[in-house]
Amino acid sequence: MSATADQAVVLRDYEDVRVRRGRHSGLTVAVAVHRTVKGRSLGGCRMKPYGTPDDAVRDVERLARAMTFKAAVSGLSLGGAKGVIALDPTESLTEELRREALQDFAEMVESFEGRYITAQDVGISAEDITFMERFTAHVAGRPASEGGCGDPSPYTAHGVEVAIRASLGSRPLSGAHIVVIGLGHVGGALALRLREAGARLTVADVDPGKQELARRLWADWVSPAEAMTVEADLLAPCALGGVLTRESVAALRVPVVAGAANNQLADDSVADLLSERGIVWAPDFVVNAAGLIAVADELHGFDPERVERSIAGIGDTLKEIYARAAAGKNTLLAAQELAAERSGTELEESDGDHV
Ligand code: NAD
Repeated sequence: MSATADQAVVLRDYEDVRVRRGRHSGLTVAVAVHRTVKGRSLGGCRMKPYGTPDDAVRDVERLARAMTFKAAVSGLSLGGAKGVIALDPTESLTEELRREALQDFAEMVESFEGRYITAQDVGISAEDITFMERFTAHVAGRPASEGGCGDPSPYTAHGVEVAIRASLGSRPLSGAHIVVIGLGHVGGALALRLREAGARLTVADVDPGKQELARRLWADWVSPAEAMTVEADLLAPCALGGVLTRESVAALRVPVVAGAANNQLADDSVADLLSERGIVWAPDFVVNAAGLIAVADELHGFDPERVERSIAGIGDTLKEIYARAAAGKNTLLAAQELAAERSGTELEESDGDHV
């Protein structure tokens, strides 16, 4: 069945979701495999505090689903998955507890017998991957010194720049006014790249320590809330997900949104609002796919040149999405359809019950 503009395309259900209290750390660890392709799925492990174990499970499922679309639209023969280590917000994280939690998580990865391959995400470093390798063979994102891709953030930042150029259309990056929210691993590297390309920057971060970088970039510094209403050529959300809500979209004063943050839409219906307002939204799972492209490349023996070629393809993918969107559907649906076509996946039409 094909989807119409007001029906979201979703891949239903999850192949395997496992949640366990770690026997070493006592912390909740969870893995969601949304889907496997040729028996494999890939997605990073996120270590962060969660209010309740249920919050962690909801997060891991939502992130795993996004990984399926990200891998498919990038032409990778991998399904989507994700892992979490849920820290207790009331407990301080000692080095010992951290290692126990990593061991718990690695043992869970091993229990999937290769159907889930883990990698870095928020709170996990390439060195943590090396540590987890003691307990499971199913890892990617090793340090560069061990033949891995190392920190994927520089690749992700490059991919976001490619996406921004494609989304600006005929307007050159040089002289464009771009708002970057979140100057972390990706946003910081992106802001440097944009500045080098001659863009004018307005930046925001909850961490006042990032003002030093803003000064070096000759960027205007605003609060994260103000950043959502600055009049500019493009907004690049590079902090947390959920920033595009009914309220925030109504207040936007940019023609284009293209950034690294995962799961930017508060829910899928926000894609319609953006489209109704004439704002081009570059789907996040296309824009930020370069990190996954780099990590996945390790499975064939890491080749930086092959990765760069693949990252350049993000621009063409977005142009194809925008062409489809011009025919009357929002960019989320256009991207999901393209992902489905590229992976040859059977799609079902949503009854509104989004996974
Ligand atoms: P990071 O933790 O290094 O940086 C996040 C930055 O955002 C920090 O500087 C933090 O202070 C700031 N921040 C947090 N909350 C904020 C808020 N409410 N308003 C403004 N700033 C805020 O993370 P990162 O690796 O740069 O990733 C950024 C986003 O990109 C995340 O959503 C991540 O899931 C996504 N992403 C990252 C990669 C990667 O390669 N690192 C790949 C794909 C997607």
